[in-house]
Amino acid sequence: MYDYQLEDKLQLRKRIAPEYVHVIHHGISFCAVGSDGVRITMESALTARDRVGVQDFVLLENFTSEAAFIENLRKRFKENLIYTYIGSVLVSVNPYKDLEIYTKNHMERYRGVNFYEVSPHIYAVADNSYRSMRTERRDQCILISGESGAGKTEASKKILQYYAITCPASDQVQTVKDRLLQSNPVLEAFGNAKTLRNDNSSRFGKYMDIQFDFKGAPVGGHILNYLLEKSRVVHQNHGERNFHIFYQLIEGGEEDLLRRLGLEKNPQQYQYLVKGNCPKVSSINDRSDWKVVRKALTVIGFNDDEVEELLNIIASVLHLGNIQFGGEDSGIAYITTDTQIKYLSRLISPLNLEQAASARDALSKAVYGRTFTWLVNKINDSLAFKDESYKNPSVIGLLDIYGFEVFQHNRFSTFCTCLTVVLSSEMAIKDAVMFHAVSQWEPVQYFNNKIICDLVEEKFKGIISILDEECLRPGDASDITFLEKLEDTVGGHAHLTTHKLADGKTRKVMGREEFRLLHYAGEVNYNVNGFLDKNNDLLFRNLKEVMCMSENTILTQCFDRVELKDNKRPETAATQFKNSLAKLMEILMSKEPSYVRCIKPNDAKQAGRFDEVLIRHQVKYLGLMENLRVRRAGFAYRRRYEIFLQRYKSLCPETWPTWEGKQVDGVSTLVKHLGYKPEEYKLGRSKIFIRFPKTLFATEDALETR
Ligand code: ADP
Ligand code: MG
Repeated sequence: MYDYQLEDKLQLRKRIAPEYVHVIHHGISFCAVGSDGVRITMESALTARDRVGVQDFVLLENFTSEAAFIENLRKRFKENLIYTYIGSVLVSVNPYKDLEIYTKNHMERYRGVNFYEVSPHIYAVADNSYRSMRTERRDQCILISGESGAGKTEASKKILQYYAITCPASDQVQTVKDRLLQSNPVLEAFGNAKTLRNDNSSRFGKYMDIQFDFKGAPVGGHILNYLLEKSRVVHQNHGERNFHIFYQLIEGGEEDLLRRLGLEKNPQQYQYLVKGNCPKVSSINDRSDWKVVRKALTVIGFNDDEVEELLNIIASVLHLGNIQFGGEDSGIAYITTDTQIKYLSRLISPLNLEQAASARDALSKAVYGRTFTWLVNKINDSLAFKDESYKNPSVIGLLDIYGFEVFQHNRFSTFCTCLTVVLSSEMAIKDAVMFHAVSQWEPVQYFNNKIICDLVEEKFKGIISILDEECLRPGDASDITFLEKLEDTVGGHAHLTTHKLADGKTRKVMGREEFRLLHYAGEVNYNVNGFLDKNNDLLFRNLKEVMCMSENTILTQCFDRVELKDNKRPETAATQFKNSLAKLMEILMSKEPSYVRCIKPNDAKQAGRFDEVLIRHQVKYLGLMENLRVRRAGFAYRRRYEIFLQRYKSLCPETWPTWEGKQVDGVSTLVKHLGYKPEEYKLGRSKIFIRFPKTLFATEDALETR
């Protein structure tokens, strides 16, 4: 056994493997204590450290090296240690296998414990936000970002489960907890689909508030949904599927039910389900998922009639998709399929074939999209906090930021998705800047996101404005005239490129219909084809009228007659989306943020595979190196005054047992007594900022050896 000297203790503590949380005396030597209480020798703990890397990137010796960063991730990933911190930011790598780290025992281990005392975990983030909410009475939000398949939705589910299990409960609270949990399978059935990147990809953005009462029990919730990918209802790329619910209903629905809905037990019968040529997915069991969803609907409070009406709509969309048109010769389309759709037949007949099909699809998309919104509202009713006597619940918000999926050819929907990323990373940067404002260390270089935000959003000359203007202009407006206007108005912008060069020549590498934006993540090319149509998102007025006449009560709620009377032009898709994002940002800005950054280790959805090229790319666009630089340049650790004082007050005679004056003065007295040097810490508005981890470790050690 090594004979470590007392002064080595700090060094040892920094160097041992993260699963060991304390270094303690053991006779004349030291040993390490695991978070489970088990002791091992110092040597073993040190070897383990070489094997598993550091649990906080801030501790990396070579912190500016991307290679060292990725090597640390790799080491940990190999050991199934998927979580690592950058200060208080959690980096998570999708393991693509079930790990035994989400048990009730694990949850218990993270309750009320500080970040650096236990190994990194999503539960630590959940618990930390919860405690800040409780002790400081300040609303929190947890922002989860990463590309499609990186594990965002799983992370938000784990957080929700953590609260459902660990927070205090009563009978009434239990109902809320159940409903919060059960809202997930329902939303996923209607809003998730199998894509090439993720077998259970969320095709909508989701922000969820969890509300807590003064005892810290979850008492309600509220969901904001945005940008459902409606086009998936009528078209899927090869290898992808429509929304899960269609297959669940067909595969799992009881015979009686299917007969009533007029559906056959074979997805291949439906035009809207065959485009991707992928009816079955090995990782998905539609039949058992159906049972889960059906039960969840009941828990949330749907009665049988409502469920039947909802499924009627789902079935109608499938029937609608099977309407075929004939009449190529005359140029005027008529319906060849013999379903009971006399309205449609009459309404669609002045159109040619292509127009008729697109009107049909527009109807399907509108019906599905609005039904989805109805469903979210219905879930919100069921989650609503009902205690009139208690007005101001505390809130923790969970944002599952839409995956940044960049393809070779990107269309309108990617453009909107990128907007989310642009705006939300602006939020992250604002946080970093605020954080930096309290330090006086060297400024850290950021990618200037404001420039690109303005390019997209600015009134009159931003891309959305120009697009909206083209959508409103009668006459010859087209996707191409939109592109030309873009060239005329913002052609010289440093972040925008089209095929036209300033001297009138053309850039060969870019298509005639493309423009390129330089985002945080790098360059993305957009094809303007379909931009005007998608942005207009129009539905023929007479189709709306038919929907208003429906006897399905869900549809009559979705299609309101008021809308028919109102002759105002509906807001365009991009503007609607921009506004809902602005609203979301406002909600988030009023809360204290925590960050979870998810990384996808490979494109094959395989366990154990660490694809370095792919990972390096994500480290880059998630801004992880910048994150780390900020933490190192500024203050790696921050603690609320009251928490800091509470924990360490026994180390100073003047603050023990209680400090009567202002918290900040107490902390100031305490750290001076502990010998903190002025450059090692700063006192902010409500927190102490500590620059080096060793300072905090030393104070922790003082507690133990007291
Ligand atoms: P995203 O929401 O970022 O697109 P998901 O959260 O849906 O990605 O994750 C995709 C898939 O990866 C999940 O269906 C699951 O199979 C796997 N996965 C993600 N996170 C974990 C985890 N922590 N443990 C095990 N498997 C995971
Ligand atoms: Mg998701």
